[in-house]
Amino acid sequence: MAATKTLEFETKCTKVKIDYARCEPARSGMAEPSCGFACVKADRMYDRNILRIEGNRPVLALPAEDVKKVSNESLSWEYACNMTGNSAIEIMIPFPGLDEYRKRMNFDGRG
Ligand code: SF4
Repeated sequence: MAATKTLEFETKCTKVKIDYARCEPARSGMAEPSCGFACVKADRMYDRNILRIEGNRPVLALPAEDVKKVSNESLSWEYACNMTGNSAIEIMIPFPGLDEYRKRMNFDGRG
């Protein structure tokens, strides 16, 4: 069976995507990548043990439905990965009403 290309999951307030095509150990198959699995280390320090390493890539350590309840929304995974230069993790934070607010406050860069 072919490995999936991304890991996508949700926390209470965010949507998270790990792109394995950009993830150093997932690409190389190295057990000791230069990134040092920074996302998993950040998870241990700043979040709630959501990630673990399996098959030389970060995977969920919990069922996806439990991640929504457990994560403390640290956003640490994306920052840690970006600091390694890989930028394999994207955390999206929906912000309902932002576009309307920017228009109302004339924050669109014009005028
Ligand atoms: S820090 Fe980035 S490159 Fe390294 S294992 Fe995590 S997602 Fe992959």
